[in-house]
Amino acid sequence: MSGVRPGTRHYTLVCSSCGTRYADDGLLLDCPRGHEPAFLRTEYDGTGTRVGEGTGLFRYAPLLPVARSFPDVPGPVVLPAERLGRRIGLDRLWVAFNGHWPERGAQLPTCTFKDLEAYTVLGRLPADPPVLVIPSAGNTAAAFAWAAGRHRVPCLLVVPAPALERMRFPAPLDPCVRLVVLEGTATYSDAIACADLLAQLPGHHAEGGARNVGRRDGLGTVIPAAAEELGRLPETYVQAVGSGTGAIGAHETARRLRTGDEALPRLLMCQNTPFTPLYDAWRETGPAPAHREHEPLARELTNRRPPFTVRGGVRDVLGESGGAVRCTDNESALAAMALFEEVEGIDIEPGAGVALAALADAVRAGQVRRDELVLLNITGGGRARQAHDLTLIPAEPWLRVPWPGRDTGPLYVAEQVQRLLTGAGSVVVAEGR
Ligand SMILES: [Zn+2]
Repeated sequence: MSGVRPGTRHYTLVCSSCGTRYADDGLLLDCPRGHEPAFLRTEYDGTGTRVGEGTGLFRYAPLLPVARSFPDVPGPVVLPAERLGRRIGLDRLWVAFNGHWPERGAQLPTCTFKDLEAYTVLGRLPADPPVLVIPSAGNTAAAFAWAAGRHRVPCLLVVPAPALERMRFPAPLDPCVRLVVLEGTATYSDAIACADLLAQLPGHHAEGGARNVGRRDGLGTVIPAAAEELGRLPETYVQAVGSGTGAIGAHETARRLRTGDEALPRLLMCQNTPFTPLYDAWRETGPAPAHREHEPLARELTNRRPPFTVRGGVRDVLGESGGAVRCTDNESALAAMALFEEVEGIDIEPGAGVALAALADAVRAGQVRRDELVLLNITGGGRARQAHDLTLIPAEPWLRVPWPGRDTGPLYVAEQVQRLLTGAGSVVVAEGR
């Protein structure tokens, strides 16, 4: 990459447990001091206006942990949704539409809010970065594949086979993007286990998921985008969650933007039954259910180990915002997707359907008032519309691996990757962390 100017970063990383401050090298994921698991968070220089020049994602660069920006990257679009609100009993509903809806100004290239995190994480990297290793259920991989390919940033993406259906782009993938597909019964959790091991290969580095401040702050740009339209923060913020990264990012960003004693948006997080580890954890009804990842409609919400108890994680932001977690089933999510398309004339992703269905339930249950100022994050939409508008080319995997099962899978995948990288059979990674 070019254009990185060392020493000019406009922010500091701060440990949310011990408070130690770090100059960012573009890669740091954790406080190296030995204490409870804790997120690093970003503290930006200066105060006052937090909106920069131009349009799109990098309009919010003063609130992004980046050393460089990229031209012509679209951002979130915040729109009033009176008719949709009336249908579910709300007078002041707004949506943040993250996807492809050209006549309303929404142009995210892979149709989900993951584009916001991908461009931010790439903009955070140092010059000559290592190969970023990123596991994904599909949407994150698609976003990174497209953004990294366009800007020639090397990355290694690990996905379960069903994710391939999301990996279709307006152009062939650049060779700097290596796509590893786990075939057979492998799940998102298996992709995570493989990526943990692959990140230990020489010249490779874990992207870090929720631990990466670039992800959280990139996803958090829906908040300044909403504040520009609303003239204030929303009272309630509604989003479907897998890891909760987006909701945590929205909360952190709202804390930076609020003026005086303005209330922080109450977070309403939504999960898709039967895979509801955050719902279960918040209710303290026991451990997450296992081995049910193939069932929910919204596959991207099936993170088995979401950052719940980590300092600065889901439990903390729910507590600080007076938030709640709701869950909804596939049938309700499908009905909500159909309702959105009927009222607004654009398709939305299953995860966004989960969020809309859960919001409607919360209104019926009296958990959200009719006159409440609500921001509903439509985390993905317009995929069908994009497929109609553009000719999309399926991504060509760099490596397909038959999944041998959870016990031997990660090491086997690492061996196959190593063979391809070196043209030899030697294995230098060690199992475990
Ligand atoms: Zn610390």
